[in-house]
Amino acid sequence: PAPRFRGHVEFRDVWFGYEKDHPILQDFRLAAAAGERVALVGDSGSGKSTILHLLMRLYDPDRGTVAIDGRDIRDFTLASLRGQMAVVLQDSYIFRMSVRENIAMAKPGASEEEITAAARAAGAHDFIQRLPQGYDTQLGEGGGGLSGGQKRRLAIARAILRDAPIVILDEPTVGLDAASEKRVMEAIGRLTRGRTTFMVTHQLATIMDFDRIVVLSGGKVVESGRHEDL
Ligand code: ATP
Ligand code: MG
Repeated sequence: PAPRFRGHVEFRDVWFGYEKDHPILQDFRLAAAAGERVALVGDSGSGKSTILHLLMRLYDPDRGTVAIDGRDIRDFTLASLRGQMAVVLQDSYIFRMSVRENIAMAKPGASEEEITAAARAAGAHDFIQRLPQGYDTQLGEGGGGLSGGQKRRLAIARAILRDAPIVILDEPTVGLDAASEKRVMEAIGRLTRGRTTFMVTHQLATIMDFDRIVVLSGGKVVESGRHEDL
């Protein structure tokens, strides 16, 4: 396996389209220092999720490269690349297994202490303890029985346990009420601290303390800077 990434990420002159002759990203450039937290905002269809797909290597660029720590990500095996990423999507996957197993799947062999520490950091420990069987409670496919915010915090606990240098979040607070959004954002603050982060969001209030905000339009960066500068 590749050594642990420091987490410097760079998109170098990337061109990409899902269909031939229909580029979504055109000459896209973006560099994030190790540990930098980058928010991606912009209109629907502007290419935000596409950028995350390229970083996860669900697709490869047509031209240009995506590099981590200066190396083309195609040089790594998919397992070693994705093994160093923690991903939380809008539909956080919850599986038909216990709460404990849902968290522990991020790190086979994790101890009970590690699992509860991750749940605490994600703000999930208290609601888990109030479930009928606590950490042994069996969940349904899709997390039936949990609220939207609880499911997100469970997914964040899993991501924290993963202890990955790179964190990828795609609209992790969409559809939550204000109180739940606040709790999820606190959890995301703890998840992303010190880790290179790419988060797509429409909720501007959630990115006040991000290091950089990148505004996309039509697959290009139209603005980039700190919250107070935009
Ligand atoms: P949203 O805010 O709605 O999630 P986005 O900024 O994440 O939008 P993308 O999902 O990156 O946008 O999509 C960018 C463009 O690529 C859109 O025109 C979209 O229709 C197209 N697209 C996305 N996924 C695919 C796909 N799997 N096949 C073909 N076209 C796609
Ligand atoms: Mg999207």
